[in-house]
Amino acid sequence: MWLDTHCHLDAPEFLADLGQIVENAQVAGVQGILLPAVRAHDFVAVRELVHAHKDRIPYLVYTLGIHPLYTDRAKEEDLETLEQAVTESLNDPHFVGIGEIGLDYFVADLDPHRQAFFFDAQLDLAQKKNLPVILHVRRSQDMILKALRQRSLPGGIAHAFNGSFQQAEQFMALGFKLGFGGAATYERALQIRRLLKELPLESIVTETDSPDIPPAWLKDKHERRNQPAYLPRIAKVLADIRGIQEQDLAQAVIKNTSKVLPRWGQLLAK
Ligand SMILES: [Zn+2]
Repeated sequence: MWLDTHCHLDAPEFLADLGQIVENAQVAGVQGILLPAVRAHDFVAVRELVHAHKDRIPYLVYTLGIHPLYTDRAKEEDLETLEQAVTESLNDPHFVGIGEIGLDYFVADLDPHRQAFFFDAQLDLAQKKNLPVILHVRRSQDMILKALRQRSLPGGIAHAFNGSFQQAEQFMALGFKLGFGGAATYERALQIRRLLKELPLESIVTETDSPDIPPAWLKDKHERRNQPAYLPRIAKVLADIRGIQEQDLAQAVIKNTSKVLPRWGQLLAK
């Protein structure tokens, strides 16, 4: 059984053929998918999407949060909407944490102060509710580590990890697992491949970040859209880089994910 720990199934790219995308994932053996919400406008739809497709993907789960790339359009009252939605979702076994939240210093024209305002407020909410977080970390590793250290949080996942070995160790020390996916399928991704080889297996989780980060074999294809059904093929590349069996990676990912996202772990244990 494979887990895709980061997949935007609610993205507009999947609107026309979501049923097929979900079926493809099921056929490929992806039994668990984490769908992180990105803006308050989508919270209800994300929850409904998960419950509409959990018959095919039994461990389909979601998190709620405001993504850094959406902070320019977010309103302060969206934070109240988030807290209310989180409180209402605590009875839902398919709700597993806060996210996707973070800081993005790669995309130009995003106000860093505005990003920090929403990120800090959402970390405070995660601390208050004792919930893990799904982090978007882009050229912002040290700022995010600083914000995490100022609080007492249960941990979570730093998705699409692309930092240094030292930064990886600091995330791990704060109770985080690191998400790896399509970026590692490119032979030139030397740093990510080195991390995959050298980090302890208990720090690694698998993800597609669909519809983004297309794996290398889609590079020159007409259809460059990534999808959760590609997770096993991506994971095979990760296992090969590490020199382990795919099954051993799959088992480790379930164990690692259950540790940092205990609500998902409870569902997976059923
Ligand atoms: Zn994402």
